[in-house]
Amino acid sequence: MTITDDLFEGASAPSHPSGPSATRGGENKRSVEQIALLLFITVPFVALAGALPLAWGWGVSRLDVGLMVFMYFLTCHGITIGFHRYFTHGSFKAKRPLRIALAVMGSMAVEGPLVRWVADHRKHHKFSDHEGDPHSPWRFGETVPALMKGLWWAHIGWLFDEEQTNQEKYAPDLIKDPAIRRISRDFVLWTVVSLAIPPLVGGLVTMSWWGAFTAFFWGSLVRVALLHHVTWSINSICHAVGRRPFKSRDRSGNVWWLAVLSCGESWHNLHHADPTSARHGVLRGQVDSSARLIRWFEQSGWASDVRWPSESRVDARRKEMSSNAA
Ligand SMILES: [Zn+2]
Ligand SMILES: [Zn+2]
Repeated sequence: MTITDDLFEGASAPSHPSGPSATRGGENKRSVEQIALLLFITVPFVALAGALPLAWGWGVSRLDVGLMVFMYFLTCHGITIGFHRYFTHGSFKAKRPLRIALAVMGSMAVEGPLVRWVADHRKHHKFSDHEGDPHSPWRFGETVPALMKGLWWAHIGWLFDEEQTNQEKYAPDLIKDPAIRRISRDFVLWTVVSLAIPPLVGGLVTMSWWGAFTAFFWGSLVRVALLHHVTWSINSICHAVGRRPFKSRDRSGNVWWLAVLSCGESWHNLHHADPTSARHGVLRGQVDSSARLIRWFEQSGWASDVRWPSESRVDARRKEMSSNAA
């Protein structure tokens, strides 16, 4: 029985004292928020499109690239290790400072408030690719045009859905923790911090406004855009294509070419077959940097009770060899 199963049994919402709705952030997607969200999605993407001409010769330094790569993997692991494997699925236990650090790192990925992220994702696992899944690419049917529409929905469209996942029902464990509630509520602050670090470093190192600008462009805008699209690709691409060596009741697939950029999350078929496993890339040669870091946290004593996939656990979830087709 997984932590998420525990939460979903007894469908009635637990009666936690729920403060005013603004306490956790993001309960209501009103029009202002919709516009802000649209800007957040389109502006970095426009920046990405403008990136190439800028790259030729004058608008990018080694420092910019270094900041981009560092901030990318810092915040990506905040999502994969923190928001996803730890907060959503309870793949391991974390000491308090690690718990807080993971919450902050994930919030800096600019993917919405922590509690909302976790609630949406637990709902995704509960209904995966069936009625109720917040972001299934199969929502509109199985024909090619329906799948094209569905891929767009799973990638970005679902973020604009009026319907909100019930946070009391899906994330009561997080709402109980005041520090986590607060980090979740201060989502805008973490966004500002996340976007401000690269230009601050770039400006101070080069002692120029130009250095601050190029660092902001690459280390903030391009980095956020890239991580957004990689994260959302797990919802869209990894539920449409990929190999399916494991038994799961949905269309999740393992997509190798996203493994490095997604910090190991694109081994998505195994993840749906065994959601609490701390390692997603369980087969030989499957790169999973998140699992590597969790191992280091465990060795340092910051993480414990890690749910590593034993050989028998993996084998029990394998399909018959004949149905291995992608
Ligand atoms: Zn999924
Ligand atoms: Zn998951």
